[in-house]
Amino acid sequence: MSVSAGHVVAIRARLQQVEERITQACHQSGRSRDEVTLIGVTKTFPASLIAAAIEAGLEDFGENKVQELMSKLPKIPKGSCRWHMIGHLQRNKARQVALYADSFHALDSRRLAETLNRHAASCGRVLPCFVQVNVSGEDTKFGVGEGEAGELIEQTSALANLELKGLMTLAAPSPEPEVFRGQFRKLSRLAEKYAHLGCTALSMGMSGDFEVAIEEGATHVRIGSAIFGPRQ
Ligand SMILES: *Cc1c(COP(=O)(O)O)cnc(C)c1O
Repeated sequence: MSVSAGHVVAIRARLQQVEERITQACHQSGRSRDEVTLIGVTKTFPASLIAAAIEAGLEDFGENKVQELMSKLPKIPKGSCRWHMIGHLQRNKARQVALYADSFHALDSRRLAETLNRHAASCGRVLPCFVQVNVSGEDTKFGVGEGEAGELIEQTSALANLELKGLMTLAAPSPEPEVFRGQFRKLSRLAEKYAHLGCTALSMGMSGDFEVAIEEGATHVRIGSAIFGPRQ
């Protein structure tokens, strides 16, 4: 894969700005930078930009569609990054996730958990998972409701080939930071309740709201446009 020098320079610059903002938000909330994993969200962007971002030092990437992941995988040297699947998943594509993803952030039903568990078992691996919770309550969003989350968390933690890492959410975009802050806080409280089951990671925060997410305890921020530019 040829990596254009221009791409590397542009991505390196934006990555550095995002990195500074993450460091600042960690500092602001008395957290260590090591507690937060930056996932570069590359959906709709070509594999050449992923290669440029790897060149610039990014190690974690997020895709939301299995088909898109499959088309990019052969173009990126194996082992040069980690892949996070962050989008809603249909059970008929669970096998590819079990085979190729390093972690899955959008677990939203018991049936999907069981299907992923079965495929992970047949690959002889344990797949790290986040249960997606719809804390904003918008009906356009995937994820289990707050009320049903506990049940799915318990079911997931009982499956031998899934490792329950924590919870994931998408906050509702709002001009008022206090609105999404409240949603991130809800996710954080919910995770605390299930910490005894290993539910300690928080995948929350995107380009428009990641600083607040970090202040509220995010361990994984999923950032696309702030690094790669606007999507078409
Ligand atoms: C696209 C996407 C992101 C990143 O969004 P940006 O606003 O570009 O940072 C994060 N999480 C999920 C689930 C996404 O689909």
